[in-house]
Amino acid sequence: FDMFFLAFVERLFRPTFKKDDFVLGKKLGEGAFGVVYRVSLAKKSSSNKEGDLVLKKATEYGAVEIWMNERVRRACASSCADFVYGFLESSSKKGGEYWLIWRFEGESTLADLMQSKEFPYNVETMILGEVQDLPKGIERENRIIQTIMRQILFCLDSLHSTGIVHRDIKPQNIIFSEGSRTFKIIDLGAAADLRVGINYIPKEFLLDPRYAAPEQYIMSTQTPSAPSAPVATALSPVLWQAFPSLRTDSSLIQFNRQLKRCDYDLVAWRRSLEPRASPDLRRGFELLDLDGGIGWELLTSMVRYKPRQRTSAKAALAHPYFDREGLLALSFMQ
Ligand code: ADP
Ligand code: MG
Repeated sequence: FDMFFLAFVERLFRPTFKKDDFVLGKKLGEGAFGVVYRVSLAKKSSSNKEGDLVLKKATEYGAVEIWMNERVRRACASSCADFVYGFLESSSKKGGEYWLIWRFEGESTLADLMQSKEFPYNVETMILGEVQDLPKGIERENRIIQTIMRQILFCLDSLHSTGIVHRDIKPQNIIFSEGSRTFKIIDLGAAADLRVGINYIPKEFLLDPRYAAPEQYIMSTQTPSAPSAPVATALSPVLWQAFPSLRTDSSLIQFNRQLKRCDYDLVAWRRSLEPRASPDLRRGFELLDLDGGIGWELLTSMVRYKPRQRTSAKAALAHPYFDREGLLALSFMQ
C-alpha cells in the first residue's frame, strides 16, 4: 500500500502534459513500434523551465514502456534517461497512441560515438569535459573503455536490482547524458519486470537479432532469479576496441553467426579463427591478453550461452578488469 500511495502522491505533484503542449522538432528515431522526436514546450511560462524534451509516440506497447519508466523513476532514476510523463493520447487516431516524455539527455548515443574515428577519445573529452593533452595509446584507451563499461554495468546492475531486464541493451540504446556526463540507458520498450508476478510472454520480434541474448524466454517470477548481463552487447565497447572491424552491422551479424556455430563458446571461436587471423584480429586478441588476460577473462565470463553461467552485471563490476584506474583518476593525476 505504501508504495502505491507514495507513487500516487509523487505523480500528483509532477507536471502533467497534453498533446498541444509540445512543439515537434527533429525526428530522432523510428522503429516498428513508435516514432521519437525532440520537442520543446509550447509555452515556457509553465512550471517547466527546463530545456528540450524527447517525445515517443508509441503503439500499444507504449503502456508497458510507461510502466517500466515509472518503476525506474522511483527505483533507480540515475540509470536511465530522466522520465517526465506518459499518457494515452486518444484525440487523433482510433484507439490512440501512448506518448512518453523524457528530458533530452544529449545529442549522442554510444553508437554515434563509436562510429567516430576519434573513438574512444571523443568519449574521454565528453566525460572529462575537456580535451586531454596527453599522448594517445593503449593504456589511455583502456582507461576510457573501462570507464564506459563501468558506467553501463552500473546502470544495468541497478536495473536488475529492481527486477527489470532490459532485453535490448545495445550502443543505440545507451545515451550520453550531457548533464551528468555519464552514460544512461534508454528504450525500455522491450523490457520485462520480473517482480510483477506474471509469466512473461516472449515478444521475440521485439528483440534485435544483432544483440539479443540467445535465450528468448524469461522465467516465471514464482522463481525469481537474478537476470544476467547480456551477451556480447554491453561488451561492445571492449569488443570494438579490440576488434574495430566488428563495428559494422554486417560483421556483427557475421560474428554472431560464427559464435553460434561454435555453440556460443568464445574460446572455441578464438581457436577457430586464430590460426588464420588477420592482423586486425590478432591485435585484438593481444589487447585482450594484456595484464595477464583480464580483458579476455571478463569477456569470456560474460559471453556464455546459459544465463546462469553468464556473469551478472554486479559480478562483472567486481572483476579485476575494473581494478585499474579509470578516467577520473587520469584527470586527477595532472
Ligand atoms: P526506438 O529505438 O524504439 O526508436 P528509443 O527510445 O531508442 O526508441 O529512441 C530513439 C532514439 O532517440 C535514440 O536512439 C536516441 O538517439 C534518441 N533518444 C531517445 N531518448 C532520448 C533522450 N532522453 N535524450 C536524448 N535522445 C534520446
Ligand atoms: Mg532504441
